[in-house]
Amino acid sequence: MKETKSTCPYCGVGCGVIIRSEGEQIVGVRGDPEHPANFGRLCTKGSTLHLTASAEVTRQTRLLQPMRREHRGEAPRRVDWDGALDFAADAFAQVIAEHGPDSVGFYISGQLLTEDYYVFNKLAKGLIGTNNVDTNSRLCMSSAVAGYKKTLGADAPPNCYDDVNHAGCIFIVGSNTAFAHPILFRRIEEAKARNPQMKIIFCDPRRTDTAELADLYLPLQPGTDVMLFHGLLHIMLWEGWTNTDYIAAHTSGFDALKSLVREYTPEKVSQACGISKDDLFTAAKWFATSPATLSLYCQGLNQSSSGTAKNAALINLHLATGQIGRAGAGPFSLTGQPNAMGGREVGGLANLLSAHRDLANPGHRAEVAALWGVPSVPEQPGLTAVEMFQAAADGQLKALWIACTNPAQSMPDQATVRRALERAELVVVQEAFATTATCDYADLLLPASTWGEKEGTVTNSERRISRVRQAVPRPGGARHDWEIVVDFARRLETRLRRAPTLFPYTTPESIWLEHRETTRGRDLDITGLSYALLEQAPQQWPFPEGASSGKARLYEDGVFPTPDGKARFADVAYVPLAEPRESRYPFSLTTGRLRDQWHGMSRTGTLGRLFGHVPEPAVQMHPQDMARRSLQEGDLVHVTSKRGSIVLPAQASNEVGLSQAFIAMHWGAEFLGGVSSTGEPLAGVNALTTSAYCPGSKQPELKHAAVKILKAELP
Ligand code: SF4
Repeated sequence: MKETKSTCPYCGVGCGVIIRSEGEQIVGVRGDPEHPANFGRLCTKGSTLHLTASAEVTRQTRLLQPMRREHRGEAPRRVDWDGALDFAADAFAQVIAEHGPDSVGFYISGQLLTEDYYVFNKLAKGLIGTNNVDTNSRLCMSSAVAGYKKTLGADAPPNCYDDVNHAGCIFIVGSNTAFAHPILFRRIEEAKARNPQMKIIFCDPRRTDTAELADLYLPLQPGTDVMLFHGLLHIMLWEGWTNTDYIAAHTSGFDALKSLVREYTPEKVSQACGISKDDLFTAAKWFATSPATLSLYCQGLNQSSSGTAKNAALINLHLATGQIGRAGAGPFSLTGQPNAMGGREVGGLANLLSAHRDLANPGHRAEVAALWGVPSVPEQPGLTAVEMFQAAADGQLKALWIACTNPAQSMPDQATVRRALERAELVVVQEAFATTATCDYADLLLPASTWGEKEGTVTNSERRISRVRQAVPRPGGARHDWEIVVDFARRLETRLRRAPTLFPYTTPESIWLEHRETTRGRDLDITGLSYALLEQAPQQWPFPEGASSGKARLYEDGVFPTPDGKARFADVAYVPLAEPRESRYPFSLTTGRLRDQWHGMSRTGTLGRLFGHVPEPAVQMHPQDMARRSLQEGDLVHVTSKRGSIVLPAQASNEVGLSQAFIAMHWGAEFLGGVSSTGEPLAGVNALTTSAYCPGSKQPELKHAAVKILKAELP
């Protein structure tokens, strides 16, 4: 029996795991007692990881050899790796020659390791000369990135998990932490048990399990977060609860915000948000006057057509009250995926460059070009997730390379995404699992290694970099993601007549060392770190050369990475939902996670025991809404938006408010069929969701769509 330390591949808590293996088989998993994210604990998903890697599951679900489809709609045929990658390189070279570099795009994933992300980014921006590389982290964290940069000057979550032990008040907003970040939630439960004086405010349209721990629940109307945050600031100003010394010393732009929030009176905010004035006052008081207030937030703020404004308006509250830069105080965004943070660090999004540089900044483009040894990095902004699929659907994007993600289920407005995948001349899918809906659209399928089989690093929500380690060999002909990219890139270099190679890497560590160098002098400087140090323990950034440890908290000195060193208040106005409910579509539909499932279920869906908690899909409705429509528990209903319709059982739930509905995001075609508004077959809740996105972050509004719900007529 061998034991190998690694990291859980599910959520952004980033728990340490110890993999037990016998020969080539993973046989067990336990929490790593030394890992500072979890101290030995695992949730239901983490503790069953080994079962998702059994020989039988591997045989049934994994993509084990490269496969090519000669014609769409046919079964793919096995090809060897040389044949597969030569075909891909020829096809990409031809598309680039005929239509230019911006006719190709890469859609990658927060499930990839930092090293994988780095080479994808360099392939697109350094070799091909297009910024069309974006990721499913766009659906997850891009509003948090934009919110931090707008206010604090850098994309750097200031806090650490230990802050829950120092907080006097925890404000959880737009996050079902109990389900989505279970091990962090357990730490909050313990902190509360140790310190019953601690106040927990929970704010969300759904009264989820997270509310069980709350001293105060704010049942926010969908999309009114900015209204609420401005209303709380209005009360704090009126009551004299702001920290004028902190505002004067460490911030700029407060006067403009002060005038803006004047109109957000308690009466107006109470009515719009559906929260009593008393509760608004209590929340404002606890937030402002607690010795230390920590906000935890996630997709409820991010997956919104005003996601940047929501993030910035929440950070305003921390700046106005001085609740930042101290133990237990600060705005702490939680990452959904295991390595959304690592992707941000290497600039693996269409608008970013390595080490938190901005594509729009000519100086940053020149720095990255010099680091990579290329003449330039293109200035033309890249296509973000929604834009990329829209461009493919419109016939402008000819070749799509999709890695480690399943847009044919997870992207909003599935009708457009399916059209994009059909219309693109070439679709390459690099994947560990053969079972995703996106595989059905691939001209070329490239089998990738996955958890337990690969080496590299990931960064969790608290800026902590952990090693991911290989415990067993890759099955069949699967290759590591970075190897596939490097092998393809070298072949493409030959066809594009570029030399010497930009991709000399032989190991993940060799990639990581180049990434490390790009961070020198940046806010996330990790030049003092090494794989050897990470072998000993996970570390937080920044960790510059000469440092003996990383930083648990940022901005303790009150200096921010802005030109004048001051944090900036954001005078962002409240903007209503992109698609408010109306008489024809009278329900607010929201989506979210279940406790025991992950994303599109390609891994968790292989285990019967993970269906014990929630065995089948349903649309949750308030009992009064069901009664008004004469619906009984389990009655089949059509849930219909302007884009599509799905059929599933109705389930009464007091978690959702009146005129609201909830469907879990995980269920795909095998569980949940549907049709588009024009009658094409679709799957899952994203047949209904809208691709309207935040203008600042380009993150789509997955948390809200207007729908109607009608009883299905039985034949
Ligand atoms: Fe994995 Fe997240 Fe559960 Fe930790 S809390 S074991 S990282 S899914």
